Amino acid sequence: MYFPKSVRLCEVGLRDGLQNEKTLLDAEQKLFLLRGLIDAGFPVIEVGSFMSPKAVPQMKDTDDLFKALGSPAGVELRALVANLRGVQRAIDCGCTKVKLNVSASRQHNLRNINRTPEESVASFAESAELARDNGLEVSGSISMPFASPWEGTTPVEDVDSIIEAYLRVGVSEISLSDASGMAMPAQVNELCRHVREKYPQATWWLHFHNTRGLAMANILAAMDAGMTQFDSSFGGLGGCPFVPGAAGNISSEDVIHMCEGCGIETGIDLVKLMALTVNLKEMLSHSLDSYVLKAGRNEDLLKG
Ligand code: ZN
Repeated sequence: MYFPKSVRLCEVGLRDGLQNEKTLLDAEQKLFLLRGLIDAGFPVIEVGSFMSPKAVPQMKDTDDLFKALGSPAGVELRALVANLRGVQRAIDCGCTKVKLNVSASRQHNLRNINRTPEESVASFAESAELARDNGLEVSGSISMPFASPWEGTTPVEDVDSIIEAYLRVGVSEISLSDASGMAMPAQVNELCRHVREKYPQATWWLHFHNTRGLAMANILAAMDAGMTQFDSSFGGLGGCPFVPGAAGNISSEDVIHMCEGCGIETGIDLVKLMALTVNLKEMLSHSLDSYVLKAGRNEDLLKG
């Protein structure tokens, strides 16, 4: 089995995680957590999204967070956007990296926005252009490239055609997001090998939810196929409003602990992160799905 020397992790808990929480955190609490994540050494952090505050009230203060953080050295701060209005908000508050998202499920896309996934991506052209004209970087995400609850396994040709639609609008940093938690390691390994070989001009992120306990296995399967960029969330926060029984993202603590034990560098201080996640747990007043947070690190057992 192949292990990379180092990986880059993007902490997505403050976006993918908080948007599914009933407890609303205020901007001050979020800033405390964001500064802690930066201090722990995450190279990339998804700060929030620029969606309608009515639709996603948990994300209403993303603009304020970017203004308060400025441009700290050594970390890339990104946000999810859906359209031109979102890009304009990103420009106005100093956010320098935006991510667009489309569902690979044709049925889901047609039912919700009456467009095929490729039409959705083509409609991102204006947003991507406005972002780039203002010096912002643009990335794109594909939800459910492995399988969806509506159509089962996603055909590889569908994934290819969405990737090609992204490349046509100038987006070559692409995230494959298993929002439904249905991906299987064999399929992940195969699809990762396929896209890396077919689209060498693209860079990739993998995003796994732990809905069926397979997120860590899927990360290892993706690593084996040469992938080195992964989303994770502290305390395993997260969910998905569209997917029945959706669980959170793979927990950052668990991924970092596994990487440390396998000689894979992340550049993140796990002890600092675990202390911060305890704060998060207090803010949300419920338990979190992080094995390492519950059981401690291997090396903690040897200290007593
Ligand atoms: Zn997600």
